[in-house]
Amino acid sequence: MNINEIFANLDYGPAPEAKDMANGWLDGHGRKFGHFIDGQFTPHKKGFTSINPATEEELARISNGTKVDVDKAVKAARVALPLWQALSGFERAKYLYAIARQLQKHSRLFAVLESMDNGKVIRESRDADIPLAVRHFYHHAGWAMHVETRFKGYSPYGVCGQIIPWNFPLLMLSWKIAPALAAGNTLVLKPAEFTPLTALLFAQICSEAGLPKGVVNIVTGEGETGAAIVEHEDVDKIAFTGSTEVGKIIRKTTAGTGKGLSLELGGKSPYIVFENADIDSAIEGLVDAIWFNQGEVCCAGSRLLVHESIETIFIEKLKARMDKLRVGDPLDKSMDMGALVAPIQVQNIKKMLEQGKKEGCTIYEAKGKIPATGSFLKPTLITDVSPAHSLVSEEIFGPVLVALSFRNPDEAVALANNTKYGLAASVWSENINLALDIAPRIKSGIVWINCTNQLDASAGFGGYKESGFGREGGAEGMVSYLKRDWEAKLKPYVLEQPRKAAEVKNSSSIDHTAKNYIGGKQARGDSGYSRQVISQNGAMIGTVAEGNRKDIRNGVEAARKGLGWGSKPAHFRAQILYYLGENLDYRRQEFAERLRQLNSLSAAAAKNEVDLSIQRLFAYAGWADKYDGAVHNVPIRAIAAAMIEPMGVIGIVAPQNFALLASISMLAPAIAMGNSVVLVPSDNAPLAMTDFYQIIQTSDVPDGVINIITGGSNDLAKTLAEHDGVDALWFAGDQAGSVMVEKASTGNLKQVWTNLGKDLNWSDSEKFAGDYFLQKATQVKNVWIPYGA
Ligand code: NDP
Repeated sequence: MNINEIFANLDYGPAPEAKDMANGWLDGHGRKFGHFIDGQFTPHKKGFTSINPATEEELARISNGTKVDVDKAVKAARVALPLWQALSGFERAKYLYAIARQLQKHSRLFAVLESMDNGKVIRESRDADIPLAVRHFYHHAGWAMHVETRFKGYSPYGVCGQIIPWNFPLLMLSWKIAPALAAGNTLVLKPAEFTPLTALLFAQICSEAGLPKGVVNIVTGEGETGAAIVEHEDVDKIAFTGSTEVGKIIRKTTAGTGKGLSLELGGKSPYIVFENADIDSAIEGLVDAIWFNQGEVCCAGSRLLVHESIETIFIEKLKARMDKLRVGDPLDKSMDMGALVAPIQVQNIKKMLEQGKKEGCTIYEAKGKIPATGSFLKPTLITDVSPAHSLVSEEIFGPVLVALSFRNPDEAVALANNTKYGLAASVWSENINLALDIAPRIKSGIVWINCTNQLDASAGFGGYKESGFGREGGAEGMVSYLKRDWEAKLKPYVLEQPRKAAEVKNSSSIDHTAKNYIGGKQARGDSGYSRQVISQNGAMIGTVAEGNRKDIRNGVEAARKGLGWGSKPAHFRAQILYYLGENLDYRRQEFAERLRQLNSLSAAAAKNEVDLSIQRLFAYAGWADKYDGAVHNVPIRAIAAAMIEPMGVIGIVAPQNFALLASISMLAPAIAMGNSVVLVPSDNAPLAMTDFYQIIQTSDVPDGVINIITGGSNDLAKTLAEHDGVDALWFAGDQAGSVMVEKASTGNLKQVWTNLGKDLNWSDSEKFAGDYFLQKATQVKNVWIPYGA
């Protein structure tokens, strides 16, 4: 094309990025790689090939990690652990800093290699993936310096197993490795089968940075290699990013093992455009939201929700913009979109589109050309869909946007939340009041106002609901790599033998059967059966309802209706908690007497348990308006507000001992943070909590905030664990019960805390009147609000 022709059609010329250095690096390794274990590369063994999805050329041969390889890597990480932990924070910081510097020095090589291996355009790998990865190591060099003082009373997990997907290979690696090392862990990481190359180059960087051997180990392989890491007995924590399906498998495998777990899973994030949005900006934002990285982004704004009044013009402008997107050679600097990661990904998306067509949707493909070979797809828009349509509910993980419209803000929120996922959302409106009203109502870990895909090492990233749990980035991300020191020192919890009645109840008193407490009322148990309450010395002292599945279902229903409690001012919640404390204080003698009667406590011990329960209610009344969020220091002109939000409905199963105090110690932080609760009190001494109904009723607790179901703890715990209306579950009981609830809760990936079958001393105020349960009662939502005139 000559210059006159270029002026005539104003088309782009080719702007190729050189790949000699990347090819040179691959050739230098003979295009064959082993694993990186104990500071060195192992010889190449049988495995698979890494293919450039744009050109279909073979890039290198990769070893498929076996159980033996994983075991070697875990052993190396275990040996390195004490040496790594013996270093000062400053020493560890220097290593993280050195890694950041090395990454920066070789940034172009990383960017080119990433584009060749993954298919993403160089514009993105060069300007987003690699700089963000570098930033992560710098940021966490800082955490290495400060972790001991900022997280006093915490220790690193030990050996971490980390498994990452193929969409942001180096970036996901840095999100996993930087905080793990900063916290003092060693690790074994498995990159995705499709994209192992930058992880292997990173291993070389670790050597060049002088990182002690065994601290970072990279084992390449397929799903089974990942499973071998998850199943390895000597791994203390698993950090996984990938599909919700595999996340659920990992949740089941790790259940009851005591392994720490954080899961970053899929999404179907809403992109909400109000009629008062700056439409052109919203269109540009949308291009970035769904066609960045070919749409292979977990937080992609893949569900457009547009105000009905601007739908026609918006879709028209969007199609015009889509037609201008350039899809092609990822190493061409003026391409907008590259290749998808592999032919199978293209096939899967085509299949989903076929299914969508059968369900009656309209498919619009951008007019621009795509290369004839390679894994390319056109930017695609789906219209004429309803919320029930498979393309609206399923994650497509490609360059496909689905569009729906809404009539008013309430409908926008309802549609946005109508998904099993909860990773991110974008809200577009020039009316900041409206945008800030919408942000807290969306159930997702991130909300971007008038922007999208903003990520930074200082701001936590992670989801609500089936998008997983745990955060990556910021202080909230560091917590995912640390555990409380005291948890390691607990003794096993021993279940009491069923109590046997030695004597018949005194017939002179009026017969009294405590019912359940649901939606602010005492409710007869569904089963029609009662459960005898027998004192520790064998006296039959009353009966309570034998709760069943239906009672739990009613309790959860009432608790969901009580969720408005979370949007009440913290001051109001504090007042109610103080009031509960005050009313319990009036009746302290009576409660102490009840505890003596139930558990043969000494007068002093019974009085102490009641006094501590009152103190705990006061402690959490005090916390209600003090346990709050932060504003992160992100490197753009934006406020990134880390808001603390309640989990929703929390199921609480109390242990047998500390019949009053244990229930109160969990109930109080849960409601202080705005959750509503379904509580199963001690199953052999439930009367302490059924007596508490009257305290609840006289303390102005709104209906549905506290619901109490009596019965067999482990049976009711199973129902709570399986119930999709329960957002989090806290279980204090025996080891078998702890394993069972973790396994049973995989359905909706609810966040589960258990005592791991350990005996907790609930009278220890240092542990149970502080932030231990507050952390578990809340999740962090980062709301990004850019500013500038
Ligand atoms: P997968 O869940 O299939 O794979 C993720 C990683 O897990 C890969 O390394 C994979 O190995 C490995 N793996 C597969 N099976 C097992 C197993 N049974 N046990 C342990 N590890 C296993 O997801 P994809 O790689 O296909 O990535 C796409 C998905 O990941 C999308 O759903 C996307 O939403 C989600 N994702 C979420 C992100 C987030 O931050 N929330 C970020 C990026 C992606 P192999 O490569 O060999 O299959």
